[in-house]
Amino acid sequence: MRRMFTGATVIALLLGAAAPAAAAAPASDAHATTDPVSWSARHLGRQALPERDGWAAEGTGTTGGATASPERTRVVRSRAELVAALGGDNASNATDATPKIIYVDGAVDGFEGPDDTPLSCADLADPAYTLDAYLAAYDPAVWGRVTPAGPLEEARVRSVANQTRQTQINVGPNTTIIGLRGARLTGLTLMIDRAPNVIVRNLTFVDARDCFPAWSPTDGEAGNWNSQYDQISVRRSEHVWVDHNTFTDGDNPDSAQPTHFGRPYQVHDGSLDVTHTASLVTASWNRFTGRDKLMLIGSSNTVGPDVGRLKVTLHHNLFDGVLQRLPRVRFGQVDVYNNLYRLDGDGFQYALGVGVQSALYVQNNFFALDATVDPADLLYDWGGTALTERGTWVRQGSAPARPVDLLAAYNATHDPDLGADAGWTPTLRRDPVLPTALVPLLVGPLAGADRLPI
Ligand code: CA
Ligand code: CA
Repeated sequence: MRRMFTGATVIALLLGAAAPAAAAAPASDAHATTDPVSWSARHLGRQALPERDGWAAEGTGTTGGATASPERTRVVRSRAELVAALGGDNASNATDATPKIIYVDGAVDGFEGPDDTPLSCADLADPAYTLDAYLAAYDPAVWGRVTPAGPLEEARVRSVANQTRQTQINVGPNTTIIGLRGARLTGLTLMIDRAPNVIVRNLTFVDARDCFPAWSPTDGEAGNWNSQYDQISVRRSEHVWVDHNTFTDGDNPDSAQPTHFGRPYQVHDGSLDVTHTASLVTASWNRFTGRDKLMLIGSSNTVGPDVGRLKVTLHHNLFDGVLQRLPRVRFGQVDVYNNLYRLDGDGFQYALGVGVQSALYVQNNFFALDATVDPADLLYDWGGTALTERGTWVRQGSAPARPVDLLAAYNATHDPDLGADAGWTPTLRRDPVLPTALVPLLVGPLAGADRLPI
């Protein structure tokens, strides 16, 4: 009992300004049981990225908000509380570098309005925009295969700006955001832009939808609808650790969207995009499920400021029923080891995108494939020249799992061939690489939110 009493007292002190009533109350066992932040959650909230755990461990490592004061250690249950905990003003929070730890309790929705009432897409639309008018104006049969322009497109862009102010949550440097059990961030984007040293853990990201997708008539052979909201965007930032999260479209899957101009109306973008010279990112033990575009590392083929950047480590992640960019890489030295892929043929495009000047090091990953997915199609050449690939196992349909040389399979059926040497060897790995056969046994049950002892 003595330990419980001490724990309750310390928790009350740590919560400080976030829970003044609790801090003022006498410590008791009953108090400890009603506090949403358990001892273990308190410990995990202050945890830094372990040494050598991927690219985010380079140099100074990644500590997030580990040194946060009691005043900047908060529990949030709404969008307004999240914005307040990040510094108070979404328009300027990206520059709030004070260390901060934010525990998310329950569901926080990006579409919550000022009085916590839910906003609709119509509430965010510019008065001059409707989808019906947009469809009528820019139908290729009327407008041609030309990029939309004019007053209606300008009204769409103003609508996007409205939504961005509402659903894009800007995160500053030296921040840890960690979910308590069952925590969900729905309909929002965590934007980590010019914000070094950020940790995001144990959160379920649900349906970061775009109310105002853009029609891009020259994207692909038949045009495409494109959304602009990722679940997490990392830009112009270093030392970011994304660990034990789940990424899903929830009850708003792409399969439920309509078709316009003969193309799917795409309201979703990436799960975790690392672009615009960002670097030193570790993504570990995440679960990506039932989504299309997952992880874009580098968004431009321009040989410029991204060169020498975009260094990312992906380990022990589960890619489950997802379609493409697992990841897609330009320029970066990207270490992909001990991940589990469960892929079926329904809409699947490719796993590893080998882009311009990319340097993928792909080791001991396990692919559980539907019988319709050819292992030779797991790689896609987006203008790259080589990757290092070894230790891959594939289990296809009901056949037993077996080692497969993915690169040889790819080269046997595609031209030009990709080379076998990415030109670097990862050194930032915390533990020895697991034998591939063990990957499904560990990653299957343990990747994703609500698996940490919190
Ligand atoms: Ca994106
Ligand atoms: Ca070939």
